[in-house]
Amino acid sequence: MKLFETMNQHGHERVAFHVDPATGLRAIIALHSSVLGNALGGTRRWAYSDESEAIRDVLRLSEGMTYKSAAADLPMGGAKSVIMIEKGKAPTEAEARAMGRFVDTFGGKYIAAEDVGVNTQYCDWMAQETAHIMGGETVSHGGDPSPYTSQGCFNAMKACLAHLGRKVEFSGLKVAVQGLGATGYRLAKILREHGATVVGTDVNPAAVERAVKELGVVALEPGTDIFAQECDVLAPCALGAVLSNETIKHLKCAAICGTANNQLHVPDVDGPALKQRGVLYGPDFIVNAGGVIRLAGLYLGMTEAALDKKIEQIEHTTAAVLKEGKNDPSEHVAAVNYAKRRIEAGRKAKAQVKQPAMA
Ligand code: NAD
Repeated sequence: MKLFETMNQHGHERVAFHVDPATGLRAIIALHSSVLGNALGGTRRWAYSDESEAIRDVLRLSEGMTYKSAAADLPMGGAKSVIMIEKGKAPTEAEARAMGRFVDTFGGKYIAAEDVGVNTQYCDWMAQETAHIMGGETVSHGGDPSPYTSQGCFNAMKACLAHLGRKVEFSGLKVAVQGLGATGYRLAKILREHGATVVGTDVNPAAVERAVKELGVVALEPGTDIFAQECDVLAPCALGAVLSNETIKHLKCAAICGTANNQLHVPDVDGPALKQRGVLYGPDFIVNAGGVIRLAGLYLGMTEAALDKKIEQIEHTTAAVLKEGKNDPSEHVAAVNYAKRRIEAGRKAKAQVKQPAMA
């Protein structure tokens, strides 16, 4: 991979690599943009097949965080970190503390939080070495952001219904949820509380059993393709890249609105393909911004009331982006343009402040 060329192309400011021989830590932090402010983004702990895969992931994810924070109107940039592990290697306090020291070298320009493979305990371990951590259980670290992500997704779903010209009512609605983990379970709970029928799948049978027992979710038979389910809304809440030329042709839903990151396998192809199929797409980084709003907001010292308002705002942001998307090749393109406009406005405002006063 031509790293500098890719950084240039996508506008990454800084990529740092770190090894800690004592713990075996191999980690990368990518700061995509600090135009709007310091950047908050999760730490992903994953068994990558090789270094190139890890680099590609951290570059892609950090750029996504810039758009997510900008579109959510947060004065924050975008960054992400990844830790390369051997498959099955359990997290340890020593490794997390080594990662915390690495995060600290960014002096607060990068604030780490949880992501796949990193939980609140890991964040607390990292926080023993640096003040620049959110998402830990202890004191001001904000806790698990997933309930806020689910609430934001539900708010975005309202905007999808309105955009389709439907009543914004959930009773009588059928929503198919892929992945009944932290965010999928809570989304299903909110939907059930509002009277929707929820069908769901998860590769973990215990997660399905819990959702059936506690929420009255209808479990799909193992092997049933959730992407071919006849439903009003499909909510991908598990993996990324699930909307592809393999799945899009089978879709029988009116809209897609879920918590998963990077749902489009090839955004330039799959975004327009959804449009051609007449399926409305709630862009993932607009829809799932509740978690980052929560953690960044607490980091910035926002009040609970202001935070709630910002998560409610996801409905209006989604509505605005879907409206713009009518004239764009896809709703994803509309969302990226929406975020880029905010970044550009921030860049201009900063440049004006820096202008020396005329003599
Ligand atoms: P999680 O690990 O708690 O839940 C994911 C669930 O999906 C698990 O129960 C897993 O068994 C299931 N799953 C995995 N592969 C599946 C498959 N092929 N079919 C069905 N189920 C499958 O994770 P989460 O925190 O709920 O996050 C889910 C998605 O949302 C991820 O893409 C994550 O990056 C994204 N996201 C999460 C947050 C947050 O606040 N947690 C914020 C923004 C985005």
